[in-house]
Amino acid sequence: MNYSINDNGEVVCMSANKTPKVRWETLTLAQVNAEYLNKTYPKKDTTLVVYRCDQCDYYHLTTKYKDI
Ligand SMILES: [Zn+2]
Repeated sequence: MNYSINDNGEVVCMSANKTPKVRWETLTLAQVNAEYLNKTYPKKDTTLVVYRCDQCDYYHLTTKYKDI
């Protein structure tokens, strides 16, 4: 199980290291943050992309290999 339920009865997704995954309520907000992080901490081979989560219905970021 990679999520838990908080006091409000909401599903909270957990990362592999057992901390809550960062989540955003809107696609726009998530995209702004992805863009910011990609610019601030550029990686050679990977980039952060937004996806909508089936579990909690919020948006998370995931690492994706760049298309060459
Ligand atoms: Zn989620």
